Amino acid sequence: MDLLEFEKNAHQVVRWMIDYRATIDERPVKSLVAPGKIMSQLPSAAPENTEDFSAIIDDVNRIIMPGVTHWQHPMFYAYFPAHASPPSVLAEMMTATMGLQCMLWETSPAATELEQRVMEWLREALGIPRDFTGVIQDTASMSTLCALLVARERASDFRTSREGVHSGPALGVYCSAEAHSSVDKAVRVIGVGSNQLRKIDVDKHFAMRPDLLERAIEKDKEQGVRPMAVVATIGTTGCAAVDSLAEMGRICRRHGLWLHVDAAYAGAALVLPEMRWMTEGLELADSFVMNCHKWFMVNFDCSALFVKDVKSLEKTFEIYPEYLVTGREGQVRDFRNFGVQLGRRFRALKLWAVFRSYGLRGIRAMIKGHIDLAREFCEQIEELPDFEVMAPCHLSLVVFRYRPKGINDEKELDRLNKELLEDLNSSGKIYLTHTKLNGRYAIRLCVGQIGSTRDHVRQAVKIIMQQCGSAAPLATAQG
Ligand SMILES: *Cc1c(COP(=O)(O)O)cnc(C)c1O
Repeated sequence: MDLLEFEKNAHQVVRWMIDYRATIDERPVKSLVAPGKIMSQLPSAAPENTEDFSAIIDDVNRIIMPGVTHWQHPMFYAYFPAHASPPSVLAEMMTATMGLQCMLWETSPAATELEQRVMEWLREALGIPRDFTGVIQDTASMSTLCALLVARERASDFRTSREGVHSGPALGVYCSAEAHSSVDKAVRVIGVGSNQLRKIDVDKHFAMRPDLLERAIEKDKEQGVRPMAVVATIGTTGCAAVDSLAEMGRICRRHGLWLHVDAAYAGAALVLPEMRWMTEGLELADSFVMNCHKWFMVNFDCSALFVKDVKSLEKTFEIYPEYLVTGREGQVRDFRNFGVQLGRRFRALKLWAVFRSYGLRGIRAMIKGHIDLAREFCEQIEELPDFEVMAPCHLSLVVFRYRPKGINDEKELDRLNKELLEDLNSSGKIYLTHTKLNGRYAIRLCVGQIGSTRDHVRQAVKIIMQQCGSAAPLATAQG
């Protein structure tokens, strides 16, 4: 593809991008394709000869699109949002065009320095204390993995990375029963072992119980397990519960543990000063992760990890083969020493583009809008006699279930709600996901598309009620 063809095809791709976004709400939000259907349309071997780019675009439309679930669809309420705002997408195109590897300062000074700067912007925007230093990782899973590795090294005075995990006592990691599965994965990967991950029970608001945490730490100490780190969650995946950092922090200080904060989704809401109650006590933490690729307008991937003890972070990951020595070590920042991967994408550019295109004011307005819409949805559900809200709603997530009058058998309610969710999702009109709270099946609705409006939320209430054939007063949903 020469430059002229590149230009012609690029215009075609941009046209495709605009058409896609312009027609997204006419598409079934969740793909209903049967397993294997897409693969059966793809040749079993790579082509020997050249093909036109227009043929590729045609096949995207013909073969790929039926197997796409539209994450930017206004009726996508599943999981958590994964924004791909226009400025972010444009910056991503520029990043891809340059094709940089941002492992060392030398390999693109601008990439390193822009990343340092936008991480400072983000730190200030979220009210994270100034003694934290930010680095962009691919995902919250990786950020948590990195944080726990540093915690492991610090707990063993950096002996584990030399001698292996069997060189010392078993290490204990603590999180709530509602913590994300990435914590389970991290303890497996770093050699702590899932048997040494203590899932602490939660209180009635689904937050980790500090009394039980402290008891678990003390019990481990008595039994020769060395407590290493606590992972507190700000905004759990199930129901957006908030662990108390002040309580966790005090316990971690008392026992010499690393405190990692997983705010992958809810961290974005810290742009609003009125939401900073969630991170009261953050100054006691050692590391903090939030995903810009969830609720912060940046397209995947862009996870921001903030660490207080940068020296330990670098000591955990630094390694100097001759071919990576530049002679500038110590004078400039080499982000390859801030994580597992060597090659790194130039992700700071899209975060920069988002900050500048929306401004903090625009970002705050979006987040506040979503929180308000979620509250409205929650209030409407609460008013319906056949539904109940299952967890406090203080962010953009509402967890609820269908509970028709006269049905009190919990198993039957689980079955009804599972069926309801399947029917809703196969309608193509809306996409929601579920969780279990206190063992009971519950439906999650997360408001948070960049273009979400009150109409979309009312439509959601209406679709849900219609699906139930609910006898509830329709006036509520129509407002
Ligand atoms: C989404 C989420 C994660 C995982 O995020 P990835 O970036 O996909 O790894 C971890 N923790 C919480 C609380 C989340 O909501």
